Amino acid sequence: MKQLIYLDNAATTKTRPEVVEAMLPYFSEYYGNPSSVYEFSTITKKAVTGARETIAKSLGARTEEIYFTAGGSESDNWALTAAAEAYQSKGKHIITSKIEHHAVLHTCAHLEKRGFEVTYVDVDENGVVKLDELKKAIRPDTILISIMFANNEIGTIEPIREIGQIAREHGILFHTDAVQAYAHVPINVDEYNIDMLSSSAHKLNGPKGIGFLYIRKGVKIRSFIHGGAQERKRRAGTENVPGIVGYGKAVELAMATLEERSKYETGLRDYLMDRVMAEIPYTRINGSRKNRLPNNVNFAFQFIEGESLLIKLDMEGICGSSGSACTSGSLDPSHVLLAIGLPHEIAHGSLRLTLSEENTKEEMDYVVEKLKEIVAYLRNLSPLYEDFMKKNNR
Ligand SMILES: *Cc1c(COP(=O)(O)O)cnc(C)c1O
Repeated sequence: MKQLIYLDNAATTKTRPEVVEAMLPYFSEYYGNPSSVYEFSTITKKAVTGARETIAKSLGARTEEIYFTAGGSESDNWALTAAAEAYQSKGKHIITSKIEHHAVLHTCAHLEKRGFEVTYVDVDENGVVKLDELKKAIRPDTILISIMFANNEIGTIEPIREIGQIAREHGILFHTDAVQAYAHVPINVDEYNIDMLSSSAHKLNGPKGIGFLYIRKGVKIRSFIHGGAQERKRRAGTENVPGIVGYGKAVELAMATLEERSKYETGLRDYLMDRVMAEIPYTRINGSRKNRLPNNVNFAFQFIEGESLLIKLDMEGICGSSGSACTSGSLDPSHVLLAIGLPHEIAHGSLRLTLSEENTKEEMDYVVEKLKEIVAYLRNLSPLYEDFMKKNNR
């Protein structure tokens, strides 16, 4: 394979070799069902408990508050639908934001069809949820607030502590989609007053298809999958033991390196942002500069199409992601970029690059050089750019 510069870690990450190694014995050697009674099965039962303990500890949660699921989407679906159902006698109003992941937004749309009312709170130009609007949206029948910990497109970290405080003061349940943030920034569920939290292993160098939902003890919530007694009878089905073991290992490694990794990625991220901003004119940074995930960069290059940019980058061995939803069959720019107030034509020229600890400064230099070339090339093809240059006598 030609060289690969992988800058799409918000889409998924590489499963670390240590994680794969930890998982392997649970396929062919220790394959017992954790629910069985014989001694052979206690090995898998213990492995599942161990992973649950590691994860609980990383969040300041209790072991019995961690429920394994098949990923972030399932956790979000469960948290919203089941809490809505469990608390509907109190009210049918839910508050979320305009920039949530579709796993939350589409679940809200589903709930609206079933008689729930949802308020979608605005964000400011940096993608930060407007707290005054959030407070104003609260009604006596509000049962749930769901605001993501950090945004997957623009990397903005939300004021979760304040939101948790507001929810607690009003006696409203608070769920956060922490899929992008967990094990990338420190999170403590008590400190932030979080009642439910979604996570997914493949966003933190674990395997795909395994996630968890943290559910605070005392929160009423119905079972998501009915069947056996697994996951305290709330999510039936034989445990994905290798996945759970891999998840535990990934969390253990991610938590041990969190500070150092964050420092390294932040340095690399800022280097990339600074060089691009200095060397490519008519460019802006989407998302907050201050409250930002360590590994997220999101640019908007005026006068070009993000999709063409992505294809050109791919030809140079660089994997990134654009700000439009073309892949999902729509030509509209992403709801997140529109919510931060970008005009359509600028949102279309957006590029998200999400780093990992494996990326190097040399790679960033290569990316900057290629970006300069490609952006200049695409702008030269653009009639809008030509008009703009003529008008400005450049
Ligand atoms: C990736 C992602 C999800 C979905 O997680 P899956 O495990 O792929 O289902 C949900 N929310 C956010 C913020 C994400 O980035």
